[in-house]
Amino acid sequence: MTSSLISSRDASKDFSNVDEERRREEPSPFEVVLVAEQEGVIQATGGLRVIPDYSLDAIHSTVLGPAVGGARFWNYASEDEALADALRLSRGMTYKNALPGLPLGGGKSVIIGDSKLANREAIFRAHGRFVETLGGRYITAEDVGTSPSDMEIVCRETNHVAGLLGRSGDPAPITARGVFRAIEASAKYLWNSDRLAGVTVAIQGCGHVGYHLAKNLYAAGARLIASDVDAEKVSRLIEEFNAVAVQPDDIFAVSADIFAPCALGGVINDRTIPQLLARIVVGAANNQLLEERHGEMLKEEGILYAPDYAANAGGIFNGCIELLGSEPERASKKVDEIYETVLEIFETAKAEDTSTNKAADRIAENRFLAAAGLQNVAEMKLAT
Ligand code: NAD
Repeated sequence: MTSSLISSRDASKDFSNVDEERRREEPSPFEVVLVAEQEGVIQATGGLRVIPDYSLDAIHSTVLGPAVGGARFWNYASEDEALADALRLSRGMTYKNALPGLPLGGGKSVIIGDSKLANREAIFRAHGRFVETLGGRYITAEDVGTSPSDMEIVCRETNHVAGLLGRSGDPAPITARGVFRAIEASAKYLWNSDRLAGVTVAIQGCGHVGYHLAKNLYAAGARLIASDVDAEKVSRLIEEFNAVAVQPDDIFAVSADIFAPCALGGVINDRTIPQLLARIVVGAANNQLLEERHGEMLKEEGILYAPDYAANAGGIFNGCIELLGSEPERASKKVDEIYETVLEIFETAKAEDTSTNKAADRIAENRFLAAAGLQNVAEMKLAT
């Protein structure tokens, strides 16, 4: 991590509120570090140095409510990469929650390490202790590399955790259902029919959401092409849903109608866009566009992109059962409404001759500003 990202305790906005006394009582291999984004507006809140692993929690905004976002466990190449991911993901959560008008802010955690680690107790207890120090300003949950059973461990240290087994449970099936609705909406917009029978979908990433998305698509009669860096994950899709497997690097160029990124972010970029034969990109992965301009590039190529945070909002609706006391039926209805939300984004982008990601951002920002009674988009970033 560059020194510019390491702030001192007396940083102007230090949300970490570390409970020194408690830490002294509980000696652990974890060292609390504080980080600040260079602009000084987005304030990363700190993290746990875990030897040899490492976690960072980032709060992007608590203007509309507590910052909510999952914990990602991944072998990042560097601390800088992990921090950049945490900050981008936390921003995405602010937009994801603002778009459907939820009274929630945006946050995210990342943990550096091998997510296949067998003994997870120390890491997730430490994660829970750190979340607890934030006093409810950040609520954690599952993400890539973490599962409801990890959140059960977190829960022993803090109540500020969602996606627990006995409560709203694994968000992946409902997230997948929302992505499926976004795929239907995209098909309707482009081909004037949302029937997916005979349509070929290339799925990148056959993990929790990728698996359930494949299940929905198979039931609708779609043909599947699948890839994962973990061969075991792909074999389930071959056996259960008749998927055709390809190598991870080949998934972009396969002959498919729809490309569904369900692994990590940044996969839509200068290298991959020219390879895409699919006419639609819709998936569960957060931050699919490496840079905002790649949304414009997709538009120029005539590829319809359903913005990630609109398509993958099902998990947060599911979390609202725990977070806001929503009825499960309400969560389910909100997931179905992803269809209309995605169509609204497409119509707005068309009317304004802009990319779909920019159209979605503008709709989310307007909703955010109206709900918060603010005038200026820059104020979205301020944590309280
Ligand atoms: P997961 O960890 O269960 O699955 C991700 C899969 O992607 C893994 O099987 C992994 O091996 C695979 N993968 C990683 N790199 C790859 C590559 N280069 N090529 C192919 N496969 C690769 O995670 P998940 O819960 O299924 O989440 C998938 C994506 O959806 C993530 O970006 C996550 O942030 C996003 N998302 C998930 C939820 C949810 O409810 N779980 C909600 C919203 C968004």
